Amino acid sequence: MDKKKLKIFHDRLMAERAALVGVVGRTEDYGREADIEATQDPADKASNSYTKELLFSQSTNDRQILVQIEEALQRIEDEEFGVCGNCGNEIGPKRLEALPWVRFCITCQDLSERGLLNEEE
Ligand SMILES: [Zn+2]
Repeated sequence: MDKKKLKIFHDRLMAERAALVGVVGRTEDYGREADIEATQDPADKASNSYTKELLFSQSTNDRQILVQIEEALQRIEDEEFGVCGNCGNEIGPKRLEALPWVRFCITCQDLSERGLLNEEE
């Protein structure tokens, strides 16, 4: 991949990372506020914990993307960006444009989601 394209992906990843760090930070703040504002009303408490659960799953997802973004930035540095982490084939340009932090080509992603990929960590 040429340097110009890499730079564009790099900038996009940095922007996504900044946005996600903001989201993750705010979610944690909100969690703390909800604790402080918790009242004795059981109905309020229930809705509070429901909201927290939602926020928690949201931020877990964000954290996973954040990790993938960090890895993608590392791959840009290692000049391995855009190459599938499993089979070594190039990841399709459309796929990269939609999700620049993906680790696998679409074939390996599919295998991974079905638990058929032997990931070596
Ligand atoms: Zn692959």
